[in-house]
Amino acid sequence: MTALCPCQSGLNYVDCCQPFHQQTALPQTAEQLMRSRYCAYTMKNIDYIIATTVPSQQAQLDKALLLDWAETTHWTGLTIVRHLAKISKIHSAVEFKAFFTNEQGEQAHHEHSLFVKLNERWYFVDPTVDLPSQKQPCLCGSGKKFKHCCGAFL
Ligand SMILES: [Zn+2]
Ligand SMILES: [Zn+2]
Repeated sequence: MTALCPCQSGLNYVDCCQPFHQQTALPQTAEQLMRSRYCAYTMKNIDYIIATTVPSQQAQLDKALLLDWAETTHWTGLTIVRHLAKISKIHSAVEFKAFFTNEQGEQAHHEHSLFVKLNERWYFVDPTVDLPSQKQPCLCGSGKKFKHCCGAFL
């Protein structure tokens, strides 16, 4: 298969997000992970979306809801606005616009996403599920208080 990757990197899928989706390689940057998650949405690969979310949050994700969203959304493109690779030793942020169409026409989903690196692996921090309080241990398992870790960037 030599089709261009849906993440619009300009690379072929086999040379871009496929190795991440097949877990034969790990994204080296938060931007790569973000691209591969967008790409997974376009392919309705919800297992990948869940697997690349911070482990402690995975049980809170609603797989049926995510799948429904992926199936009813027609994705048309992705633009990376900014990749802040080192906002801390283990955090990166990616600002992006994901485009899709629905009954109202073309829509843009503009988001600032937070990513955390645990055991050499990048994960998405989902701000929409129940979060710890500021003084509780961080959801990423760093051992720091939430407010001094992921909470500082959400
Ligand atoms: Zn890609
Ligand atoms: Zn954290």
